[in-house]
Amino acid sequence: MKDIINILPENVANQIAAGEVVQRPASVVKELLENSIDAKATEIKILIRDAGKTLIQVIDNGIGMSKRDVSICFDRHTTSKISQAKDLFNIKSKGFRGEALASISAISHVNLISKQSGVELANEIEIHGSEVKSNKSTVSEVGTKISVKNLFFNIPARRNFLKSNNVELKHIVNEFIRISLAHPEIKLIFYNDNSEMYNLPVSNFKKRIVNLFGVKTSEKLVPVSENTEILNIEGFIFKPKYSKKTRGEQFFFVNNRFIKSPYLNHAINSAFEGLIDSKYNPSYFLNIEVDPSTIDINIHPTKTEIKFEDEHSIYAILRASVKHSLGQYNISPVLDFNRDKSLDVPYNFEKKSNSASVGIDINPSYNPFAVNESQKKYIKIDSFKEKMNSLEFSSESNELKEFSFEDFNSDVATSNPIQLNKKYIVSKTKSGLIIINQERAHQRILYEEFLKSVTLNKVNPQKLLHPLEIDFSKADIEIIKSNKNILNQFGLDFDLKTEKINIKAIPPFINAENLIELFNNLLFNIQNEVPKNSFSESDLICKIMSKTMSIKNGNYLDLKEQQYIVNSLFACKETMISPFNQKTYVKINYSEIENMFK
Ligand code: ADP
Ligand code: MG
Repeated sequence: MKDIINILPENVANQIAAGEVVQRPASVVKELLENSIDAKATEIKILIRDAGKTLIQVIDNGIGMSKRDVSICFDRHTTSKISQAKDLFNIKSKGFRGEALASISAISHVNLISKQSGVELANEIEIHGSEVKSNKSTVSEVGTKISVKNLFFNIPARRNFLKSNNVELKHIVNEFIRISLAHPEIKLIFYNDNSEMYNLPVSNFKKRIVNLFGVKTSEKLVPVSENTEILNIEGFIFKPKYSKKTRGEQFFFVNNRFIKSPYLNHAINSAFEGLIDSKYNPSYFLNIEVDPSTIDINIHPTKTEIKFEDEHSIYAILRASVKHSLGQYNISPVLDFNRDKSLDVPYNFEKKSNSASVGIDINPSYNPFAVNESQKKYIKIDSFKEKMNSLEFSSESNELKEFSFEDFNSDVATSNPIQLNKKYIVSKTKSGLIIINQERAHQRILYEEFLKSVTLNKVNPQKLLHPLEIDFSKADIEIIKSNKNILNQFGLDFDLKTEKINIKAIPPFINAENLIELFNNLLFNIQNEVPKNSFSESDLICKIMSKTMSIKNGNYLDLKEQQYIVNSLFACKETMISPFNQKTYVKINYSEIENMFK
């Protein structure tokens, strides 16, 4: 019999291991920052070029490494953080698996210079794809400087799989924010393509949050503090009115390590129950301190998931302490009859005031969109009705008719549709009836309208008397900056400041509330962007705008509005699916109805 099992060479094994540890440039940033923290650095600089695709450099003033340690730190299973199995049950460092540097150096060009205090010279090593190119003495400061270049240079499939710089940078910034929040005692400076994006002085948790998310954050925070036998909780939640529809700032740290926990997230959501609509997500920054022997960090290679010995108690304590804070700061009703009704309404569109926050503070007195309440409900739909009507007289009307649904004849236009359950519009057709989902249909109508306006360059921006100010984090500003041109094409004209934008002109079809939600959705979607080759920016923005501005299910529509939806939908180029690939309507033929009676 022939033996067929090979022992993989170290560099191949490392490449495979790298697949687990290094998904994208942000993973490298996380591992390197964690190493600097474990090396007791009090100041860390990070430099990124080309969203980390060409360079990630981390410079720290930590304890550094000896000549021997520099030579072996890139080997697999080399770590200074544990030495025996029982150490696994008392982990206080970030790393301990001894595989990050081995993995990173297997798939990039790495240069590391490190010096300990009390020695004269530093040591420098250069490694390309696990292969040592040079190893020599050099002159440098105490601490470690590591440069990771050309990530995935030897795995083209992984390199091509990386997303646009926007997206990769956002991931990096997310990692940076998580680590900065977990360690306010460390000074951190972040340069992106030579421009300083963050400069965070040594501070406390609250100041760090404010430094990261902007001065206005301070007034949104409510402290949470609980000391019990099994855990301590310290941190902050956002007042309920600052909750976001998109998952905003949600940070859990366990013993200063950022972790993802849907279970604990649920505990917090349930503490907010009754205070915010279920579609909204509370924001929180919470650090849980537990005995390291009661958790297992080693269940995932990136160590962002952990197992608690007593998850149920942690859930209960967390929920109770968040509830307690909400109550203590008079945000949560203590008794039902005391309930502050205004807290219930921000999510009801009709009653929503402009200051009822959708996540971002705006100055209501600057509201250039003031309309009375009854107008407000219909404003979006009306402006489109006008547009659609005007089209009938334009040369394009014939073209539009070509795309009409063949089953949809004048029969419908004359017979009245009806609305069911504030969600469906039922309309008669030649061969039976159709049931339209109002929200999806309106998304389709708006989407095509927007696409057409930008393609034909027909957007007429409306200048605002007073610029409208919206606050963003620095990271969000970066994303908005790189999409400024395309947003301009949509009629949005604005100036970018460090932590806010000043909107000077808006497209005719937008109002203030939509504007904030539009930006939130835009930022959320860009973060979760589809791979760049199938990505068209204007298409994405049209989709987001149609989603943001469509009439929602659950709204009553009068007859005119129902007719508008039916007629406009069937004037669309594509009628059957929404821009998000969902059915806009279903058809029931007379023959099917006949069958139902058999
Ligand atoms: P781990 O962090 O799991 O121990 P790594 O591969 O990330 O494994 O690093 C291997 C070892 O190299 C660390 O245990 C540490 O001793 C050393 N090291 C890595 N980065 C630094 C740094 N910035 N400063 C000092 N020592 C470092
Ligand atoms: Mg490490």
